[in-house]
Formats: sequence, structure tokens, C-alpha cells
Amino acid sequence: MEVLDQDDYPVPGLYAAGVDTGGTDADTYNFALTDHSFGFAINGGRIAGENAANYAINKN
Ligand SMILES: Cc1cc2nc3c(=O)[nH]c(=O)nc-3n(C[C@H](O)[C@H](O)[C@H](O)COP(=O)(O)OP(=O)(O)OC[C@H]3O[C@@H](n4cnc5c(N)ncnc54)[C@H](O)[C@@H]3O)c2cc1C
Repeated sequence: MEVLDQDDYPVPGLYAAGVDTGGTDADTYNFALTDHSFGFAINGGRIAGENAANYAINKN
């Protein structure tokens, strides 16, 4: 869930989730996989939050 810079390197301590991310659906949207966007937003948010907390704790 790390945000990448223009050269595809992670920006330290910056995470994103849900609609603030890009590339999950590429050029298609999978209607057969019901609610995959909600699932990605919820679980991606959890993973991003955990990593942001770990980054903040280990940085200080
Ligand atoms: C019409 C429609 C139908 C959809 N149907 C489905 C479906 O059937 N299944 C599925 O999986 N996905 C569906 N999606 C996609 C799904 O809604 C999104 O993937 C999901 O809601 C993304 O969650 P999010 O938390 O990233 O963003 P959001 O749900 O957009 O939440 C962002 C929140 O941040 C708030 N916010 C914005 N700016 C600020 C600010 N400055 N300060 C404080 N709060 C702020 C907003 O008010 C909003 O409540 C649908 C989307 C649309 C538009």
C-alpha cells in the first residue's frame, strides 16, 4: 500500500488505499468478482494503517 514516486520508488511513510490508489482494475472492471472494490478499500485501508503505524513507531 506504499505510494510510489514518478520513478516507482516508495515514498517513505506515505500510504494509500481505496479510491486513492490506482491500477487495481487496469483496463477492465471485473463484474464477476462482486464487491472486490469494497474489499480492496477495506483491507487495503487496514494494511496501509498498520504499516503507517509501524513506520511512525519505528521512526521515533
Ligand atoms: C455508483 C457506485 C457504485 C459502486 N458499486 C460498488 C459495488 O457494488 N461493489 C464494490 O465493491 N464497489 C462499488 N463501488 C466502488 C466503491 O464504492 C469504492 O471502491 C469504495 O467506496 C472506496 O472506498 P474509499 O474509502 O476509498 O472511498 P470513499 O468511499 O469515497 O470514502 C472517502 C470518504 O472520505 C470523505 N472525505 C473526502 N474528503 C475529505 C476530507 N477532506 N476530510 C474528511 N473526509 C473526507 C468522503 O466524504 C468519503 O466519505 C461503487 C462506486 C460507485 C460510485
